[in-house]
Amino acid sequence: MESGKYGIDGSSTQPGIKGFKAADIEVELVQESAEKPDPNRLVFGTVFSDHMLMIHWSSARGWERPQIKPMQNLSLHPAVSALHYAVELFEGLKAYRGVDNKIRLFRPMLNMERMLRSARRACLPSFDPNELLECIKKLVAIDREWVPYSKSASLYIRPVLIGTEPSLGVKVATRALLYVILSPVGPYFSTGSFSPVSLWADPKYVRAWKGGTGDCKVGGNYGASLTAQSEAVTAGCQQVLWLYGEEHYVTEAGTMNLFIYWINEHGEEELVTPPLDGVILPGVVRQSILDLTRKWDQFKVDERSVTMNELVRAIQQKRVKELFGSGTACVVCPIGRILYKGENLHIPTSENGLKLASQILENLTDTQYGKEASDWTCLVI
Ligand SMILES: *Cc1c(COP(=O)(O)O)cnc(C)c1O
Repeated sequence: MESGKYGIDGSSTQPGIKGFKAADIEVELVQESAEKPDPNRLVFGTVFSDHMLMIHWSSARGWERPQIKPMQNLSLHPAVSALHYAVELFEGLKAYRGVDNKIRLFRPMLNMERMLRSARRACLPSFDPNELLECIKKLVAIDREWVPYSKSASLYIRPVLIGTEPSLGVKVATRALLYVILSPVGPYFSTGSFSPVSLWADPKYVRAWKGGTGDCKVGGNYGASLTAQSEAVTAGCQQVLWLYGEEHYVTEAGTMNLFIYWINEHGEEELVTPPLDGVILPGVVRQSILDLTRKWDQFKVDERSVTMNELVRAIQQKRVKELFGSGTACVVCPIGRILYKGENLHIPTSENGLKLASQILENLTDTQYGKEASDWTCLVI
């Protein structure tokens, strides 16, 4: 990475303020490692590994030395801006134990760079994404026994950056804390095969808007989505299909990007996903599906807006082959039903055996678990 890209000394928001370096990490190990859970019984995000990474920042001193410490509670002033005004952001990626027993990350620089964009949006300090990735690799290497010995489980990595300004003023934080915690997670589809989800599509709630924060992984987006999610459940659906604008553009499904594989109105076979126009979170899996299918060159691949009317018409005319969400948690998740304006729209999920979704899942997991060599993965250890 060329120097200067992330600030004068390669790492800070303000010229002359100190960045952090993975080479400076201080390590304090636990006395005794906790017992590892059975990967098949894990509930997402409830079990944590032995250690965490912590890096403190202040506008006066810049970044402190990174520390790897036993997993522990934080001690925060009750006024910190993360708690009052959601001055915070997060990331989500995974470490996979490969068939060769080596531990890999999947395109982690995309997460690091997205985290940096979120930090800028929240007026939180910048950092050198390469150094953060190196710190994360050290943390995962120390807790390597927490990466499940399983072809379908993994170790979820949750980097967080919070404003720790101890003041009720709505202002740019002069103190911050970057930390990373690790959580072993089981297979997304516990049955071992796809189970299609149902979506509730109602324009009453909006996830993101142009000029807003929907394209960044900032906490406020997710807390604010819970009302819609619980109404979806009340309506008998599993997740929300987020619509946007008068035209009811389809945007995302729950916290997944959305893909439509269909015969479009011009009779062309096409995979389409909404464009990164400000209301879409730029998913790593979304990008990977676009890169992969463009390389396959078997059908048209497009990033463009699709309205609910277009989708309804295509479903009625039986032109929709597959509809699925994408994200790190599931890779791909087929959608079987949409409840829109009181009507259930059924998307075929059995006739064609979800061919495209299966192909994508197989290809990406083969890469993640080291069955297929790829420059999309990097070794931790
Ligand atoms: C994290 C996230 C995604 C998926 O991103 P990946 O990098 O592919 O895991 C999609 N939509 C939203 C709203 C998200 O928060």
